[in-house]
Amino acid sequence: MQIPSAAGATPSMAQWFAMKADHPNALLFFRMGDFYELFFADAQAAAAALDIALTARGEHGGQPIPMCGVPVHARDAYLARLIRRGFRVALAEQTEDPKKRVGKAPLRREVIRIITPGTLTEDALLEAAQPNLLLALVEAEKPRGREKAPAFIGAAWLDISTGQFETAQVSRADLASLLGRLAPAEILADAAIPLGAWEDKRGVDWPPAPPRAEDARARLAQAFNVASLDAFGNFTDLEAMAAAMALDYLRLTQAGRQPHLAHPAPQGERGVLAMDAATRVSLDITETRAGDRSQHTLLASIRRTSTPGGSRLLGAWLHAPLADLGGIVARQDGWDFLLSHTALSDELRLGLRAAPDLARALARVALGQAGPRDVAAIGQGLTVAANLGALMSDELPSILQSARQALGALPDLGQYLVGAFTDPVPVRLEDGRAIAPGFDAALDEERSLRDEQRQILARVQLDYAERYGVPNLKIKHHAQLGYVIEVPATASEKLRDRPELVLRQGLASGARFTSTELSELDQKIAAAAERAGARERIVFDGLVETVMQARDAISDCAAALALLDVMQAAARLAEQTGWSRPLMTEGEEFQIEAGRHPVVEAALAGRNPFVPNDCALSPGQRLMLLTGPNMAGKSTFLRQNALIVILAQAGLPVPAAAATIGLVDRLFSRVGASDDLARGRSTFMVEMTETAAILHQGGPRSLVVVDEIGRGTATLDGLAIAWAVLEALHNTVRCRAIFATHFHELARLSGIMPQVQPATMRVKDWKGSVIFLHEVTKGAAGRSWGVHVAALAGVPAPVVKRAGALLASLEKAGPLTQSAELPLFAAVQQQHDATPGSDLAVEPEADLLRQALAEIDPEQLTARQALDWLFRLKDLA
Ligand code: ADP
Repeated sequence: MQIPSAAGATPSMAQWFAMKADHPNALLFFRMGDFYELFFADAQAAAAALDIALTARGEHGGQPIPMCGVPVHARDAYLARLIRRGFRVALAEQTEDPKKRVGKAPLRREVIRIITPGTLTEDALLEAAQPNLLLALVEAEKPRGREKAPAFIGAAWLDISTGQFETAQVSRADLASLLGRLAPAEILADAAIPLGAWEDKRGVDWPPAPPRAEDARARLAQAFNVASLDAFGNFTDLEAMAAAMALDYLRLTQAGRQPHLAHPAPQGERGVLAMDAATRVSLDITETRAGDRSQHTLLASIRRTSTPGGSRLLGAWLHAPLADLGGIVARQDGWDFLLSHTALSDELRLGLRAAPDLARALARVALGQAGPRDVAAIGQGLTVAANLGALMSDELPSILQSARQALGALPDLGQYLVGAFTDPVPVRLEDGRAIAPGFDAALDEERSLRDEQRQILARVQLDYAERYGVPNLKIKHHAQLGYVIEVPATASEKLRDRPELVLRQGLASGARFTSTELSELDQKIAAAAERAGARERIVFDGLVETVMQARDAISDCAAALALLDVMQAAARLAEQTGWSRPLMTEGEEFQIEAGRHPVVEAALAGRNPFVPNDCALSPGQRLMLLTGPNMAGKSTFLRQNALIVILAQAGLPVPAAAATIGLVDRLFSRVGASDDLARGRSTFMVEMTETAAILHQGGPRSLVVVDEIGRGTATLDGLAIAWAVLEALHNTVRCRAIFATHFHELARLSGIMPQVQPATMRVKDWKGSVIFLHEVTKGAAGRSWGVHVAALAGVPAPVVKRAGALLASLEKAGPLTQSAELPLFAAVQQQHDATPGSDLAVEPEADLLRQALAEIDPEQLTARQALDWLFRLKDLA
């Protein structure tokens, strides 16, 4: 339903129309007293999405106005559902006190915030262990005549809930990889920039044209109070434009407020291990292919963190492992130190458990959304930080040393803030009990005046009871009448004729009276409470201001806590699992001893022991060609080596007895069927697109793990493609690779390609059935075992038997020969073209009709039996 014209609207609806015109793509939450009301199409959409009643309110243009409402106190729960379903919400609050309103004009209302998926700050709307990123993208305009030049995209991403703000410039081809790495909640991008699988995260009605580069630089410098943006590093024009665009959007959604953001940091793709989207998906880094984040992921299997900030940092490390040796070694030194100082590590872990989510509390303070608990949480976080800093001595590896400095930067502020609040801290300041007694003398005085008035009230109650001779007389507060005298019905006679009292309500259960004395007292109490409330607000605002003054140091402190948490978690991981510190080099080695797959191992859960495997891909034998039947453990082995690289370059312990790894610049993993049918591409098309990416982007420093290239097409095609890809990896890309294939024939290519080392998964034949040993050994698979696996999987016995017979016939064709260039193909071709009658002829299956005929002995049949047979044969035909 369209929004009708505003003509003839009542005054408050006119206000609604004006706001709606400014926010056509958001649901307008229009505050009316204790509810946010939605009207017209907004109401219809929200009622359907939230499953709440759609009603009507008044009329507009002769038609009832569809309406639904959400109670103010339940706002966050409803917002969470709407945001999750892709809506944006504009919050229009009453910005005028109803009590102070003059005349009949509608209350002043303003949109104080637009809530979008990428600009959330409320804990209730956020996942504690996940970042929530807003990403802005700007594409370079190509000069005329150079339309074919490679396209570049400037990217800036920020997490308003923690203040993180980073930029990078990537080629258009690498955009998918960046999106996969960041997993943004909302993307601002011109419609011309394709977002692929992330299309549904595109923000609506934005952006206008991106700012010009000079304006962008100037705006950013001004926002972060520096003379030139260069102070923060080298930003390309596109990066600056994207960063300014993100900042503009924040201003728009936060109605002009400036959230607390770290200064933008140009991140580049340099320094980070590049992984494309397909690689991330195939490795289940922080989310499984089925969309599960809580278990069966790499992150879930290694997480030993104690704080939400630590979890977020660990996830970020796994998605952006480093590619510079110094950074990796610094992290390794950090946890290695804690591993050898377990007492300190234990103390840190215990201390961290008491740390609140400092980063997110600070973000809410900066946006003016903080309640008492947020400010108190900052106090508590700083106190924990100072205590943890004090635990650490001077002799520390550099990464811990700088964390220690940040932790101890604000020793007094924490105590001060903690001391400012009552315990437990109330949620709302309006409750009037948030600031601790003794913290502010003026507040104490206002409160004692307020409480004094309340005591007076208690005395007056006693007075009245005595004066009118009604012992159970009560003074109560009534919403409309203010303070009233309440007496049981039986006693109301005694008060009725008193000139100083006015009967306001006579009920069967009792009567209520008011008096001038009481209403004066009421006013005094209200005034005293108001003064106390006002003073409490001033004190609170002062605390907020103090926090804002120190926000950079607090933000550093939050980062230091997260870092310390990841460090202790890594030490704990190594301690509990025996994982090792890999030796990282600038060379091209890849030597893993007794590597394991943490997620598969956990899934086996002790039912079966996990079999560790070595992997050596160093120069001279860079390419491992892995054959073996399905279910033998090939994909597990491929993935475990890719995961070891991610963990190693994230600076974390690796699941192996020992590892030496020359830095990898790009990791490609193609394991497990990828299904992109939604985008209308066949499995084979996807497989080839992903293979193309490896061949274009891979280089000598890359690591490639691929499973069954060529499986998506006919055997002959597939074999040819697998061969050609292997050749390209060997001769052109020259990377380290594990290439798993079911074409055993390829193993023979090791004779032609010196870097290829054939390896296979060991299996044992036991009483005609197959046993998987999950062990990687030298050599090639002798046979396929596919038929046995089919039996294990429960394919009916006659089909398995038949397959076995067919296989035997096929194998009679003899081993495939390999000598010069193309005989392998020739052999396969011959096999393919084989016709019945040649030595590859496959016996056709004897059909049931023939079997039945064979059973008949006409000599022995009676006429009656012959007739029966005739009927039976007819049935079989
Ligand atoms: P493939 O890729 O060869 O079909 P997978 O790697 O998917 O085989 O492994 C199949 C199953 O075998 C896994 O789900 C796991 O239960 C088990 N498995 C794989 N590798 C190992 C191992 N190293 N030790 C123990 N069990 C393993």
